[in-house]
Amino acid sequence: MPGETPFSFQTRAAALDSLAVEPVDLLIIGGGITGAGVARDAALRGLRVALVDKSDIAGGTSSRSSRLIHGGIRYLEHGDLRLVFEASHERRVLLRIAPHLVRPLPFLFPAYRGARVPPWKLRAGLWLYDLLAAFRNVHTHRWLGAKKVRAAEPGLRDKDLTGAGLYYDAQTDDARLALATLRSAAAAGALVASYTEVVSLAKPDGRVAGASLRDVVTGRHIDVRARVVVNATGPWVDVVRRLDEPGAAPLLRLSKGAHVAVPRARLGNSYAVTLTSPLDGRVMFVLPWGDLSYIGTTETEETVSPERVRATGNDAVYLLRSANAFFPRARLAPHDVVSTWAGLRPLLAPDASRNAGAGAVSREHRVVESPSGLITIAGGKLTTYRVMGRDVVDRVAARLRKLDGLRRGAAPPTDRLPLPGGETADLDVLVSAALARGISEPTAKHLVASYGTESAAVLNLVDKKRGLGKPILEGRPEIQAEVVHTVQREMALRLADVLIRRTHLFYQARGQAVTATTVVADLMAPLLGWDAARRAEEIESYLKEVETSRKFLKEVGRQSLPA
Ligand SMILES: Cc1cc2nc3c(=O)[nH]c(=O)nc-3n(C[C@H](O)[C@H](O)[C@H](O)COP(=O)(O)OP(=O)(O)OC[C@H]3O[C@@H](n4cnc5c(N)ncnc54)[C@H](O)[C@@H]3O)c2cc1C
Repeated sequence: MPGETPFSFQTRAAALDSLAVEPVDLLIIGGGITGAGVARDAALRGLRVALVDKSDIAGGTSSRSSRLIHGGIRYLEHGDLRLVFEASHERRVLLRIAPHLVRPLPFLFPAYRGARVPPWKLRAGLWLYDLLAAFRNVHTHRWLGAKKVRAAEPGLRDKDLTGAGLYYDAQTDDARLALATLRSAAAAGALVASYTEVVSLAKPDGRVAGASLRDVVTGRHIDVRARVVVNATGPWVDVVRRLDEPGAAPLLRLSKGAHVAVPRARLGNSYAVTLTSPLDGRVMFVLPWGDLSYIGTTETEETVSPERVRATGNDAVYLLRSANAFFPRARLAPHDVVSTWAGLRPLLAPDASRNAGAGAVSREHRVVESPSGLITIAGGKLTTYRVMGRDVVDRVAARLRKLDGLRRGAAPPTDRLPLPGGETADLDVLVSAALARGISEPTAKHLVASYGTESAAVLNLVDKKRGLGKPILEGRPEIQAEVVHTVQREMALRLADVLIRRTHLFYQARGQAVTATTVVADLMAPLLGWDAARRAEEIESYLKEVETSRKFLKEVGRQSLPA
C-alpha cells in the first residue's frame, strides 16, 4: 500500500550516501511544488533523479500561497486566456489525482452598483471562465439575485448589492500537495534530501556536470555528479543562476503577496468571497479555512530576500480594510489577526519595454538553458506545476539524448496516476472507516482531508499505541499519531516541519501551538535519535519563529485602521 512507502530521515540519509558515490541523470535544486513536479515526471520516465532542498520540503513559497487551484478569474482582466485555459484543465486533473488535498470550493463574486467591475462585465467574465474550462468545471456558474445573496452570505454589504456570481474553483493544502508530489516521485525511484543546500555548481569542462552539496543538519559536504542540473528554486532562481553565470540578468520580477487569518466567526462567511478592493480595485479573496478565514492577497514589488519576506503592518491594514468594506459588521481590527504569511511570487520579468505593474506580470512559465547547460524553470503557479514539470523534463530528455544518443520514454500519465492518499475520490467512505475505528468526527474529517487513504496508516499507529490517539492540542482535531506518521512517512526532520507544514498548527492554533512543543518534541526525539540538547534546540528554534511572528503581530496590533 502506498501509505507504507517509507519517506523519512533514513530515506534521506540513504539518498545522500548514494549521491556521494553514484552519478544521477538529473539533479533538481529546489523541493517546492515546481521541483517536486519535475522530479515526479522524470522519475516516472525512468530517469535516475535526485532532488535537494536547503530547507524543508515546501519550506519556501509553496507553503505561503493562497492555496487555490484555480483557473485564475483575475487573469481574465489581463487577457491571459491561454493561462486560464491551461490552469482550468489542471484544476480538473488535480481534483482527480489528489481529491483529498484539492477540494471544490464555491465562490461568491458580489456585484454592486457603481463598482469597478460592472455586473454585465462580471457576468460575461464568468461565462468566459466556464467556456475556458470547456464547461467542465465542478459546476458551471449561476447568477444569484440580491435576495438570494443576502440569504447565502448575510454578512456581505447590502447597500447597492445587485446580485452575485456563484462559481467554482478549488482549495488545496499547498505544502502537503508538494509533499505528496515528491513522495510520488520517491516511490518511482527519485532520491530526495531536504535540508541539503547546493553551494556551488561543478563545471569540470565548462559545462554544468554536478554540484557541491552541504547537509544542513550535519555539515557534511558531498560532491554529486549529474548529467543535467535543473534549477527549480522559485524566487531564488536568479541566485542559483548566478552560481553558474555571475553576471546573469534577472529572469524574475519578485512580487510579494501577504495574507492575514482571522476567526471565521467574525466575518461569518460560509462561501469563499471574491472582491475588488475599494482601496485600489485589485481582485482579492476571503477564503474559509476551518474556523478561520484568510484574506489575501496583496501584490507589491519586493526587493527583500525570500528568506526574510514577511507580511507588514501596512499589508495587514490593507487586507483588513478591504474585507471590512464588504463585511461591514465584522469591523475587523488588527488585534483580530490570528496569523499571517507572505511569500514572493516568482513571476517572469516583463520585457524592458513593457512597463507593467506587479499585478499585470504574466504567471506563465519559461524554461531557460544557460550556455553551460543549467536548465532553469522560472515563473508559473502552484496550479500549473504538472505542466511545468513535463516541459522541463522534455528539455532534459532532449539534452540527455544529445549527450548519449538515447531516446527517453514518452511523457508519463501524471494526469491519471493518483498522488499518495488520492487513490479514491470517495472521501465519505474514508471518513466512515475512521469513525468506525472509534475516532471523533472532527478528527476523522481532518485525517481524511490531510492524508486521504493514508489516514488508515495514521490510525494503525493508534491501534498499536492507544496514547497516540490523544490530541496534540486539547480541543483541536490533530492527533499525536500524526507526529509519528510525518516523521516516518513524510520526512519531517524538525519540530517546525511538523508544526508549520505537515500540520498547520503554527497558523491555525491560538498561541501558535507553543504549548504543544513539549509533547511533539517528546514524540520526535526517540524517532530521530535526538539527545536532550538537540531536543531543547528544536524547541528553542521553534519558539524563536513564534516570537518573530508575534513581534510582527504586535506591530499589526499597533496600526490604526482608518475607515
Ligand atoms: C502570496 C502568494 C500566493 C499565491 N497563491 C497561489 C494560488 O493560490 N494558486 C496558485 O496556483 N499559485 C499561487 N501562488 C504561486 C505559487 O505559490 C508559486 O508559483 C509556487 O509555490 C512556486 O513554487 P516553487 O517550487 O517554484 O518555489 P518554492 O516553493 O519557493 O521552492 C523553491 C525551493 O528552492 C529551495 N532552494 C533555494 N535555493 C536553494 C539552494 N541553493 N539549494 C537547495 N535548495 C534551494 C528553497 O529552499 C525552496 O524550498 C502564490 C504565490 C504567492 C507568493
